[in-house]
Formats: sequence, structure tokens, C-alpha cells
Amino acid sequence: ANYSKKIMITGGAGFIGSHVVRLFVNKYPDYLIVNVDALTYAGNLENLRDVESKNNYVFEKADILDEPAIAALFEKYDFDGVIHLAAESHVDRSIKDPLAFVRTNVLGTVNLLNASKAHWKKTGMENKRFYHVSTDEVYGSLGETGFFTETTPYDPRSPYSASKASSDHFVSAYHHTYGLPTVMSNCSNNYGSHHFPEKLIPLMINNIVNNKPLPVYGKGDNVRDWLYVNDHATAIDTIFHNGKNGDSYNVGGFNEWKNIDIVHLLCSIMDKKLNRPAGESAKLITFVTDRPGHDHRYAIDATKLNSELGWKPSLQFEEGLEKTVDWYLANQEWVKNITSGEYQHYYEEQYKK
Ligand code: NAD
Repeated sequence: ANYSKKIMITGGAGFIGSHVVRLFVNKYPDYLIVNVDALTYAGNLENLRDVESKNNYVFEKADILDEPAIAALFEKYDFDGVIHLAAESHVDRSIKDPLAFVRTNVLGTVNLLNASKAHWKKTGMENKRFYHVSTDEVYGSLGETGFFTETTPYDPRSPYSASKASSDHFVSAYHHTYGLPTVMSNCSNNYGSHHFPEKLIPLMINNIVNNKPLPVYGKGDNVRDWLYVNDHATAIDTIFHNGKNGDSYNVGGFNEWKNIDIVHLLCSIMDKKLNRPAGESAKLITFVTDRPGHDHRYAIDATKLNSELGWKPSLQFEEGLEKTVDWYLANQEWVKNITSGEYQHYYEEQYKK
């Protein structure tokens, strides 16, 4: 078939990646979408059952660190675009094993940059695009006031955010040094369906369902900005198509919450959904030793993306959270499949008394 664009999406079997793949495959039937994923513990093709039969979708199992494999994919598909989401993404895991984060997030990103540069040198840089999906955690931690903007100096504090900051710097270096057409975005915390249950919101939902303690770090007063994952996907669509080469865009929901308030809100939604007396689920809340170096507050200013490219989030938090709870309740099988085996072991280690 004659596709108007051929796009490699890395990490498409993960949480955000699967939403991006779904959006692009359905919205752009004239694009070929090639999902490149190594299927680590976080990658799950179950997330894409509804798109795998579409003609314009292909899955290729590959590690972004594998130079020959990535070069071969460029030869095979002649990509015009790369949307790079593959990463080690969990802060707690980065504290235990920083090198794994350096490998995938730093070396893997540089490997993709090299492969794109080599291929596009032959086919021309015009109308090509390398898009790196990154995090607001690169900016460090805020006090009670203020917001991260695109010009906030980088100040990463966890091995995870240090690895993402490093990969961001390589992306802009490839733009300045080699003229690679790059674009980048730094987004706040995402929530929604298909989220691996090691992360706060799905972890709490899962434990409430199973009447297990709800482990809250420290006093639960850390503040995060939360964005519905489908809204992140539309932001990525907007930036991929309309962002300016060499630029970066902050993505967020103007939606700040203390962790403990989210847990209480989830408990009250779940009490209703599970027909429990009001206040029942909240009894499961247990405070645990804080994460080392736990950043106090992240808040993102997404004004540039809104004013220059016209993007805004579609949902209020309470509405998105309720949709998320409904999805988890309707997909207990998905949760069971991924929380058995290796994850169970990780969980017991992480929250052991
Ligand atoms: P995730 O952990 O759910 O998914 C990561 C995916 O990458 C998995 O499918 C995994 O198999 C794949 N992967 C990992 N290592 C790989 C490798 N070496 N080669 C090929 N594939 C590999 O992550 P997520 O939460 O969906 O995050 C996706 C991206 O968005 C990451 O780059 C992350 O830094 C960024 N981000 C996440 C959030 C968030 O709230 N989750 C917020 C801002 C930015």
C-alpha cells in the first residue's frame, strides 16, 4: 500500500505508547504505524488487541539498544517519523537499578537518534521528524508555588529523571549538531486505562478491590499534576504534526493533587462502585517510609502548547478518575495476568515491612 507517512512508535506496548498507537492507527488510516517494543515487564500486547488486526498497524519486537535490528527496521520501512516512548519508566525501580535506566533511556535513545540520522542523511531531512516523549521530572522539585516552563533549568534528582534529562540533552544536541528535525515534550503524571499497577493510581485501585493495605509514601503530601493519558496522546499528535523543529513543549493538566487526597478520592469512588459503606476503603490507608529523595512538588505550565498549538485537556480529573476505575473493574483479568509472576515478587520486596 502507498502510505502518506511511515512512523516508528517505540514503546507502543506500554501504558502511554498503547494509547498513542491506538490514536494514530484509528485517526490516520493512510499512515503505516510500526510499533517497536522489546516487551519488557511493562510491555503488554494485550493493550493493543483492538488495533492488531488493522491493515495500517505492524508490531516488530526489537530492543532499541540493538543497533543492527533498528537499522534493519529503517531499511525495511523507510520511516518518515519516529515517536520515541520506549523507556524504563518507574522511579522506584531506578533507585534499585540505575544502570538499566542508563542503558535503555540514554544509550537506547542515542541509538535511535543515530539510526534516524543515518537513514535520513540518505533520504533527505525534509518532512522527517524525531519526537522524544519525556517527563516534567527533569526539572526537579518545586516549593509550594511556581510552575515548570520550557525554560526552567534541568535539575533531575532521581536516577530515572537523570536518565530522561540526559536523553533530552542528546535529542537537542542532535538537532543543533547534525540538523536532525527533532521535537520534544515534557509531560506531567499520566493516569488512565492500561496503566501498570506499580504506579500510584492503579496500585491503589487494585489494592482497594482486593482489600489490601494502601501504601502511601511519607505523609502523602507530595504534589503532582495529573493528566488523562488520552489527553497526552492528543498532545503528542498535535506536537508531532505542528510542533516547531528544535522546540520542546510542556504538557500538563493544570491539575495539582496531593497524593493523599487522590487516595481519599479513589476510596470514596470505590466505596460507591463496590457498594461498601462510606469510609470503608479509606480504612486500608497505611503510611510507609518515604521514597528516598522523593520530589516534593511538580507543577507544569502548558501555556505554550495551548497558545501556540491550540491543545487543551478534554477531561476534568474526577471524571477521568471515574472512567479509569470503571476500566479497571471491567478488566480484572488484565490486572490478574500482569500482577502474577515477576511483579508479585517486586511488590513484596518494595513494600516489605
Ligand atoms: P511503560 O513503562 O508503561 O512502557 C514502556 C514501554 O517501553 C514498554 O512497552 C516496554 O516494553 C518498552 N521498552 C522498555 N525498554 C525497552 C527497550 N530497551 N527497547 C524497546 N522497548 C522497550 O512507560 P509509560 O508510562 O507508558 O511511559 C512512556 C514514555 O513516556 C516514557 O518515555 C516515559 O519516560 C514518558 N512519560 C511517562 C509519564 C507517565 O506518567 N507514565 C509521564 C511523562 C512522560
